[in-house]
Amino acid sequence: MALPDHLRDAGFESFDPRFSRLFAPHIHVERLWTGARWCEGPAWFAAGRYLVWSDIPNNRMMRWDETDGSVSVFRQPSNNSNGNTVDRQGRLVTCEHLARRVTRTEHDGSITVLADRFDGKRLNSPNDVVVRADGSIWFSDPTYGILTDYEGDLSAPELSGSHVYRLDPADGSLSQVTRDFVQPNGLAFSPDENLLYISDTGASHLAGGPAHIRRFNVLEDGTLSGGEVFATCTAGLFDGFRVDREGRIWASAADGVHCYDPDGTLIGRIRIPEIVANVSFAGAKRNRLMICGTTSLYAVYLFTSGVTIG
Ligand code: MG
Repeated sequence: MALPDHLRDAGFESFDPRFSRLFAPHIHVERLWTGARWCEGPAWFAAGRYLVWSDIPNNRMMRWDETDGSVSVFRQPSNNSNGNTVDRQGRLVTCEHLARRVTRTEHDGSITVLADRFDGKRLNSPNDVVVRADGSIWFSDPTYGILTDYEGDLSAPELSGSHVYRLDPADGSLSQVTRDFVQPNGLAFSPDENLLYISDTGASHLAGGPAHIRRFNVLEDGTLSGGEVFATCTAGLFDGFRVDREGRIWASAADGVHCYDPDGTLIGRIRIPEIVANVSFAGAKRNRLMICGTTSLYAVYLFTSGVTIG
C-alpha cells in the first residue's frame, strides 16, 4: 500500500535485533488527525474506548474516538492543560499550566484540585503525571507554563526550583521527591513499579543543560534513591514517555519515538515527521502506540503492549 507523502519518511528503524521483533515490516505509521498547535499528554480511557490529549497553546483538550475515528473537543478552556493520565479508578488526572495545579475529573464530571501549592507557594506549572498502584500521584513541575504567555501566563516562580512531587493517597500531603533537576518533565514507572524514570529537559533553555532520562529506585516510604542517567537523547529532548510490559522505554524525541531496552541500549526508533512530545498505549490490547507529534496525532501497532492504564 502506498503511503501518503507526509508519511513517506515515517516508520521503524532498527538498531538492534531486539527491536526488530517488536513490529512487522508492513506495519506503518498512521496519522489519525491533524490541526493542533502542540499536542501533548495522551491518556487512554479503556472503558470508553477513547484517547484524551492536550493541545496546550490552543487551551483545549481533544478526544479521539476509537469506535469511529472521530476527533472532538473534550474540554475548552482547559487551563492550558499538559500531561494527563488515568488513575486506577478510571478517573482523568490532569496537569494545568494556567492554573498551576493538578486536578482530577471525578466520575460525575466535577473537578477536584489535588495539588496547587507546596509549602504555601504556588507550583510552577505541572507538566506530566503518573499514578502508582498504591494510589500515590507523582508529577513534574518545571517552569515551561510560566516562562511565556504562549502555554499559560507569564509569571514569576514562587518556588526555588523545579522539582518532582509525590501526593500521598492517605492524607493528600505533598512531598518533594527530587531537588536536583533543571526542568523535570516526563515520568513513568517500571512494570513492577520499583523504578521511576524521569526526564530532564533543562537543555531547552540552558546551553549544555540536561537532555536525559534518569532512573530512581522507589523506596517503601515513598522516597527515591539512585538517580543515575539512564539515557541521553540523541535528537532534541526526551519529553514524555511510557514503559511497555517488558520494561522498554518508548520516549519522545525531535525525530520520533526512541525505544530503549531496560539495560539502557537504544534499540530502535519510530520516525515521525514532527517533533514528538509524548506517547500512550491504547486499544483493548494496549498494543497501539498513540503519538502526540506537534500538530498531529499518530498511531502505530506494536508487538508489545503498555504496562499500566492511562
Ligand atoms: Mg512534558
